[in-house]
Amino acid sequence: MKMKDIGEFEFIDKIRNGCLIRTDGVVQAIGDDAAAFQLDAGKLTLVTTDLLVERVHFLRDATTGFNLGYKALAVNLSDIAAMGGMAREAFISIAVPVDCELAFLEDLYRGMRHLASQYDVNLLGGDTTGSKTDLVINVGIVGSVSAHAMLTRQAARPGDRIFTTGYLGDSRAGLHLILNGITISTGDYEALFEAHILPHPYLAEGQFLSAQTGVHAAIDVSDGLVSDLGHILSASHVGARLWCARTPVSPQLQRFCTQFGFDSVDYALTGGEDYTLVVTMAADHAEAARQSYERRFGKPLFEIGEITDTGRLELVDPTGRVNPAVAKGWNHFKKG
Ligand code: ADP
Ligand code: MG
Repeated sequence: MKMKDIGEFEFIDKIRNGCLIRTDGVVQAIGDDAAAFQLDAGKLTLVTTDLLVERVHFLRDATTGFNLGYKALAVNLSDIAAMGGMAREAFISIAVPVDCELAFLEDLYRGMRHLASQYDVNLLGGDTTGSKTDLVINVGIVGSVSAHAMLTRQAARPGDRIFTTGYLGDSRAGLHLILNGITISTGDYEALFEAHILPHPYLAEGQFLSAQTGVHAAIDVSDGLVSDLGHILSASHVGARLWCARTPVSPQLQRFCTQFGFDSVDYALTGGEDYTLVVTMAADHAEAARQSYERRFGKPLFEIGEITDTGRLELVDPTGRVNPAVAKGWNHFKKG
């Protein structure tokens, strides 16, 4: 069955089941002219949106609806995570070509509901309209955060240590495999595919870090470490040194780079869409925060560098030599 066989209103009736994951705080869910809900009293409201366009951000033939829905929601949850916030309500607007299979869209909502239920987020509304040829999906999320705990890009200070919550570069390697027709069943690259297709939103980690003493700035890695750390540097008017030998590279990425002749540090520094968090912490609190993070989550918080007062991003290579980073990171990113 195609979208043109059922129309907008029957479609909304089909997908709305299971969209209300948490009743607490919700006064009006899908079905009226607007949603109504109560956010946590005394907290700041966070709002973020991301737009995904077929042939620009995804290929409809190369993805399942489930994976596309999951990722569309995950990238938005990641933005809330990078503010140290809690995600509460999601709004999904879609422009659907008439030939789009209904089953694909139902699968898309299954993917979103699957992830939403893990984080107690409601799918609370949206809009549905037609499109000539391409599928367009916009997800918006409303969340909340305590004013004193909110993490921003502008709070890094010289002397801060820089950490990241997960491996870097896996997602770009997964994309390389997909674009070259190498499928999930070949090799032992599951973690690389998964990093690209089903990224983990670091919401619990972001909330935990935002509550630690001495945690200053944060951002999520969407465009690549060099590029995204660059946003912290310009917003905070600081510089940074990254220790190349300490960028967290997964065993699978290491194996992938050996097999295909790529540089794993380059992947870690410039690969995009990892959606790990990068946080800066005051040096005298960093070790305690790192230890309590590792106790809480049972996984490492990787230390990758330090904030400086130079205004520039520098890379320390494994021999200890310091090189300017900008040209390499940016050029490579633009080409990629
Ligand atoms: P209106 O014309 O008053 O904007 P709609 O018919 O567009 O109303 O929407 C009816 C209800 O369905 C609203 O609650 C809206 O938020 C919800 N809705 C519409 N499209 C979607 C969608 N793609 N995903 C989730 N909810 C949707
Ligand atoms: Mg109306």
